[in-house]
Amino acid sequence: MNGARPALNVIMLGPPGAGKGTQAERLARTRGLPKISTGDILREAVQAGTEMGLAAKATMEAGNLISDDVMIGIVRDRLNREDARVGFVLDGFPRTVAQAAALDEMVNGRGPLIVLAMVVPEDILVRRLATRRICSKCGATAAVDWNVCGKCGGALIARVDDSIDIVRERLKIYLRQTDPLVNFYSTRGTFRAIDGNQRPDIVTAQVDAAITAATSAAGAAQ
Ligand SMILES: [Zn+2]
Repeated sequence: MNGARPALNVIMLGPPGAGKGTQAERLARTRGLPKISTGDILREAVQAGTEMGLAAKATMEAGNLISDDVMIGIVRDRLNREDARVGFVLDGFPRTVAQAAALDEMVNGRGPLIVLAMVVPEDILVRRLATRRICSKCGATAAVDWNVCGKCGGALIARVDDSIDIVRERLKIYLRQTDPLVNFYSTRGTFRAIDGNQRPDIVTAQVDAAITAATSAAGAAQ
């Protein structure tokens, strides 16, 4: 490996059910980058019972969203760790324009920020989410090709709360929240929309091609 390889900073945007987690994981693995999921960090902090974890748990149990300040702090700490020097794949952050602006400051001087937005028609998302399965043991969300949990081998069960109405409502909230975010990024040369309504392998190939294109667009702009 070339030690002078420029950092590859990638964020993945997309509604729940768009396959963003799977693609983020694949990308991180093939490119040797840390996959940074704010959901994972929060879950681990809650499990470990850290001060931040307890505060986050109380906030979520009260039905509130974790504040921008807390989320920004979590991501800043994580990006300052050694393994993120080669870049990162961020999943679940930013969720708001304030978070996106803070992220721009964090990556300033660390190479371009590539933004991939996974796009899937709403009806397809609703169908995917309503039939989503989770692990009965560890709670992991099952990938489409799992027969048992890929993390612990536990049995997969249907998620009980995923009725069509709940799924539609959740999507509506997500889209209302993240539309301004897409607007924030979409005029940049390093922004790419990916058609997520295809076989996962084809999506992976398109993610790869989009990164190549976005990287050269960033190089040309310098
Ligand atoms: Zn499991």
